[in-house]
Amino acid sequence: VRHLGPAVPYYDALRAAWLAAHPRFPAYVAPDRPRVLVVTGSSAHRCSDPEGDHMLLRAFKNKADYCRIHGFDIFYSNAVLDAEMSGVWTKLPLLRALMVAHPETELFWWVDSDVVFTDMLFEPPWGKYAGINILIPGWESKVYEEKNWIGLNTGSFVIRNCQWSLDLLDAWAKMGRSAPVREKYGKIFAKALSNRAAYEADEQSALVYLLVTQRKKWADSVFLESSYVLHGYWKAIVDRYEEMQSKWQPGLGDDRWPLVTHFVGCKPCGDPNGASYEAALCRRGMERAFNFADDQILKLYGFQHETLNSTAVYRVRNDTGRPMDTDDEEIGRLLHPTFRAA
Ligand code: UDP
Ligand code: MN
Repeated sequence: VRHLGPAVPYYDALRAAWLAAHPRFPAYVAPDRPRVLVVTGSSAHRCSDPEGDHMLLRAFKNKADYCRIHGFDIFYSNAVLDAEMSGVWTKLPLLRALMVAHPETELFWWVDSDVVFTDMLFEPPWGKYAGINILIPGWESKVYEEKNWIGLNTGSFVIRNCQWSLDLLDAWAKMGRSAPVREKYGKIFAKALSNRAAYEADEQSALVYLLVTQRKKWADSVFLESSYVLHGYWKAIVDRYEEMQSKWQPGLGDDRWPLVTHFVGCKPCGDPNGASYEAALCRRGMERAFNFADDQILKLYGFQHETLNSTAVYRVRNDTGRPMDTDDEEIGRLLHPTFRAA
């Protein structure tokens, strides 16, 4: 069986030695503040849906906004690094390549192209995850008891730079290598997992399968997070944005003001066969998510969208001759975030 890459003996020790030799590139930029690289990507090809590339551009703009505020770097891939690992599996060889090339990066945060950050202020409480190598949205009971393939979601997850993660990526990727292997595992998943038909293996089912069949080996280092919205199912969110704006404020990250809205099953770039939802419904939801998130940015500069359904903006704060005098607390927290390292 081919692996994602050669074994790297003593990886953790090698990385520690590299970090010691390169003090200008610390893995922790402040106490409890790991260096985080947000990783995302999309196909090498132009979208078949004429709106698709514009949707991808706006989705990337949204991620750039979130990363700038939080001081995270971002990596966008348009390449399939391992020809056998195409489609949804592409994220695995990409994460492996970035991991071994960037020993200074402590955490890699994969986000699907169809993930929108909808809380610009909230940041995962990193200190909570000491000893954890994968932070992923999900529920223990749904994964380990129900063995449900949607008991976790691989559209947005965080993986630590360490030997354990290289091993996990290898074990995980094995189930997606080439069409016959995917066919085979698709059938295995249908038997072993609940609620899943026998179509070809996807990377989400594969992770659930790995956790339920090799629980002892992996589970202790996996944190299934549900106390805030690391992956939010778009249909349950996109009609509530106005209500959120009237009742709450950014920074909560939970159901009241979700960190992420994920357009699972939407396929905005095209491939109508792959989509589970009507394109117009998806597009309307995305438009609303982009504008909801962008309002949190525009507000810093004195503008807002007229409505969440349109791109038009208007001025909400008049320019003054004393621009430094604004003392709005919410604006200050996003303009000059104290949680950033520098
Ligand atoms: N992806 C990629 N290159 C490809 C195909 C997919 O980078 O050629 C990424 C892209 O970020 C996409 C993710 O894989 O968002 C997972 O696919 P999708 O979001 O369509 O799956 P869903 O969340 O709907 O299950
Ligand atoms: Mn997705």
